[in-house]
Amino acid sequence: MYKYSDFPWPESVTEMFPNHRQVVAYLEAYARHFGLLGCIRFGHQVVGMEYDGVSEEAMASWGEWSGNDFVVLCIGRFSGVTHIPTFAEGKGPEAFDGQVIHSIEYAKMGTAKAKEMIRSKRVTVVGYLKSALDIAAECAEVNGTAHPCTMVVRTKHWIMPDYFAWGVHISKLYLNRFSELLIHKPGEGFLLSLLATLLTPWECIHPKIPQLAVIGYSESIANLYTSELRAKWLAHFLDGGIRLPSVTAMQNDVLEWEKYMKRYSGQYFRRSGIAILHTWYNDQLCRDMGCKPRRKKGFFKELFEVYRPGDYVDLLPKKQ
Ligand SMILES: Cc1cc2nc3c(=O)[nH]c(=O)nc-3n(C[C@H](O)[C@H](O)[C@H](O)COP(=O)(O)OP(=O)(O)OC[C@H]3O[C@@H](n4cnc5c(N)ncnc54)[C@H](O)[C@@H]3O)c2cc1C
Repeated sequence: MYKYSDFPWPESVTEMFPNHRQVVAYLEAYARHFGLLGCIRFGHQVVGMEYDGVSEEAMASWGEWSGNDFVVLCIGRFSGVTHIPTFAEGKGPEAFDGQVIHSIEYAKMGTAKAKEMIRSKRVTVVGYLKSALDIAAECAEVNGTAHPCTMVVRTKHWIMPDYFAWGVHISKLYLNRFSELLIHKPGEGFLLSLLATLLTPWECIHPKIPQLAVIGYSESIANLYTSELRAKWLAHFLDGGIRLPSVTAMQNDVLEWEKYMKRYSGQYFRRSGIAILHTWYNDQLCRDMGCKPRRKKGFFKELFEVYRPGDYVDLLPKKQ
């Protein structure tokens, strides 16, 4: 699942969960293969951006997206937002009789040093999201049951302990069309579903901010899969292959999404997971690109087989 549609993993990688070195090697090989390295200026930070064009007032009156130059933001969700908590005096790390480090420092140490640091120690991990779970898993691997790691958790989250539920791989529960029939989608109802089908999904562009797109903000079970098709959609759009509807129509679509997210995600509506609607979402991107959204051979395969990056390998976008 974690792969580009047009670039297989090397045969030497047979693990179900490759480690981070193998993932980095795969991404580097992709960049080398498609000649991307020469297009990247490493070691530079963008410190600001200024729009050099018409005034904001003029832009506000535009009925359609316009302009030539384009910026694509791919700065990730976590860049520059390291959350280092502050504590009242005497109640922070100094109150603990042991070493206290932030997950960022742990990550910077590199695998060998980090493993050495936690070996045979009693480790407490504070938190319960991605970094916390990754570090707890590493502690379990290094120390086994001899020195189990303790997790201190403020907010409980449902964490799936395994990729299998009742013996079925979880992707079969939400990455095929049958499972999608069981969930609500934005724009339901005949007329609204027609609307949602005709309009582009705006997850990567903002109707009121022309000439800018964001790739990489949404998440799902494997994030290359989430971003690749969206990047293809954007490339096709920049090639002049897609004509956007009016700004008003796009804004109405955004409102429709917001209503849907608030209704079904409650207090978590600002989160950006699209996993359960992945195939449905990809369908919209395919339609915009003039490609067939149904990519399986046969009725039952279409209904029950899991959709994966490989299903989009021969996507050939057509100009509208
Ligand atoms: C602990 C952890 C575990 C995870 N595990 C998984 C997993 O198992 N599977 C999975 O699919 N996903 C996983 N993810 C999520 C995955 O890492 C992200 O979805 C993915 O890295 C997003 O890629 P990206 O290119 O959009 O952003 P990033 O990988 O964050 O890349 C953004 C880049 O932009 C650069 N940048 C930011 N601001 C500027 C600036 N002003 N100027 C220049 N450069 C800038 C940053 O330095 C960075 O290199 C995990 C994330 C975390 C934190």
